Amino acid sequence: MSRAHVLALPAPAQGHVNPLMDLSHELVKHGIKVTFVNKDSTHKQIMKAQEAKGEENKEQVGNDRVQLVSIPDSLKQDEEANSRPERVVSISEVMPKKLEKLIQDINEESDNEKISCVIADGTIGWALEVAEKMGIQRAVLFWPASASFLALFLSIPKLLHDGIIDGDGRPTKDQIIQLAPEMPAMRTTHFLWTQVSDNLNAQKNFFNFIMRGSKNLESKDWVICNSSIELESPAFAFAPKALPIGPLQGRKSNQINHLAGSFWPEDSTCLNWLDLQPDKSVIYVAFGSLAKFDHTQMQELALGLELSNKPFLWVVRLDINDVENYDFLKGIEDRLFSRGKLVSWAPQQKVLSHPSIACFLSHCGWNSTIEGVINGVPFLCWPYFADQFLNETYICDIWKVGLRLDRNSGIISREEIASKIKQVLLDEGFRGRASQLKEKAVRGVKYDGSSNKNLNNFIDWIKGTK
Ligand code: UDP
Repeated sequence: MSRAHVLALPAPAQGHVNPLMDLSHELVKHGIKVTFVNKDSTHKQIMKAQEAKGEENKEQVGNDRVQLVSIPDSLKQDEEANSRPERVVSISEVMPKKLEKLIQDINEESDNEKISCVIADGTIGWALEVAEKMGIQRAVLFWPASASFLALFLSIPKLLHDGIIDGDGRPTKDQIIQLAPEMPAMRTTHFLWTQVSDNLNAQKNFFNFIMRGSKNLESKDWVICNSSIELESPAFAFAPKALPIGPLQGRKSNQINHLAGSFWPEDSTCLNWLDLQPDKSVIYVAFGSLAKFDHTQMQELALGLELSNKPFLWVVRLDINDVENYDFLKGIEDRLFSRGKLVSWAPQQKVLSHPSIACFLSHCGWNSTIEGVINGVPFLCWPYFADQFLNETYICDIWKVGLRLDRNSGIISREEIASKIKQVLLDEGFRGRASQLKEKAVRGVKYDGSSNKNLNNFIDWIKGTK
């Protein structure tokens, strides 16, 4: 008898790989075979991180496992050095052929486990064209961010029509818009494509790439989304093609084991350190996988944490921060780290579920946002890119489970950091609302929760029983 076989394709970034990996493991648990395709360099990085942990088989679930494979992205060396958005555009030009070849090879090797479904990240809509060309009838996009962010992409034609952006995606003025009442307000100068580069040509190319991608998002009946009605009901009403199946991180199995997808080895010593701290005392400071700080900002953050007088656990990816930052932290190590701990990559979900965590100073990536939410942790928001401003609006204005950090002349000062830490910890209201939000968010993925029902229907559709 033949078995459903899904090819899962994430975008090459940590925040995209993690939730699609969580979804893949859910599918495997339901007897579906999953082949998870990264580009070569990402695959190597994940394998290296796994080896460093000495847990090559960590991705195993039940009697089966997600198969990790890779395809070349064929970027020339000079293209590797390009900015991330430029790389995304180049990859979309060279990878479809490689994907076609991979599907052909898999299908030739197997009679009863041919690829029957493709699930591609929402930013790589070209994979759907490949699926169609190869005669694969089930193909769907996976959106690892909020439904509101998806709604923004789907609204591009309207934004153009209403003159909010021009033909190159540039906002005609800096203004706050709302796609629908009760949806989070968005600032036009924060639209993703305006932030990718200072180079107007690169911005325009990226906008055109997004427009092409949005057509793929529109072409499908639905796009599965790692969010829930409980978290964003107005956005799902506005964009009915978004099918909520999340938050996937809220499912018990994913909380226990964040499975084979980490780009860097997690430093678990911080969990022992957390064990030694009083309940609800520690500030967890982490900015996702891509954030870099200039030296002045790094100094202010370090000194703000010191000024707060609270224990803290801080993730600093020293590999992408400059030597000057490293030297500075080294220089004040004795003083600063009597009360704090620095790691280069943390087991974030385990950290956030630790009883010692008092609040999450976060860049508000969607994964970090929902990981904080499902653990009932209040936030301090420090967004710097993409959908993070939108997520900050959810946190501060809609869910009211955190506070923004204000920038003065572009810098968040040490006094501002210390003062907001104090405010968020003293006001019990933040913790209370965060606990209520946690209950709501987790309800959706429980047995008869709305996201869980959608996920089960989706699984039946993949298996061809629906
Ligand atoms: N993460 C982690 N360890 C860290 C920091 C982050 O495992 O020290 C994970 C985090 O749990 C999340 C992902 O990396 O799943 C980051 O995704 P997010 O959308 O928050 O931010 P991005 O990296 O895309 O900016």
